[in-house]
Amino acid sequence: MWPWGHAALAYVLYSVLRRRRGESPDGVATIVVVFASQLPDLIDKPLAWNLGVIPSGRMLAHAPVVALPLCVAVYWYFARRSRAEYGVAFGLGYLSHIASDAVQSALAGEYAYTRFLLWPLLSVPEDSQAGVLAELSGFSLTPSPALIVSAFVGLAVAGLWIRDGTPGAGVLRRRFRAVARAACDRS
Ligand SMILES: [Zn+2]
Repeated sequence: MWPWGHAALAYVLYSVLRRRRGESPDGVATIVVVFASQLPDLIDKPLAWNLGVIPSGRMLAHAPVVALPLCVAVYWYFARRSRAEYGVAFGLGYLSHIASDAVQSALAGEYAYTRFLLWPLLSVPEDSQAGVLAELSGFSLTPSPALIVSAFVGLAVAGLWIRDGTPGAGVLRRRFRAVARAACDRS
């Protein structure tokens, strides 16, 4: 799944969770859930493809043996600061990434790429950046059923985010203004 797919899935899950509690999505928690939805790839891909210290871009940070303690530790960190909802958002984003990677590979019949779920008990197959680049180079904007469905799903998620009040946008805007003001004051 591409980064935007992970982000969209994590946001939808988070929005549904909040709505079930009768609350709207929180701005900071939205940023946390989107960031956490990218984190397994942000850790594993550079370790595998740039540094070559692990054989696959889906191994260490994708493995539940690492992911679950990490999510518990992050939840504990935020809960101690009376921000348990950020810990929940982190876990939701992170674990939805791992689950969707595994489900996608299983649906595609690529069962070897679900072995990371039981790493280090099972070894994982090697992969490379070249494979992903080849997939990207095959990407075309020519209308196809898959592209049309993706566009509709993307629009639906964007619509949900707007209906939720664009959570996270205000936080980023304020942060950006503060950084810009500090840079102006320094110059
Ligand atoms: Zn991944």
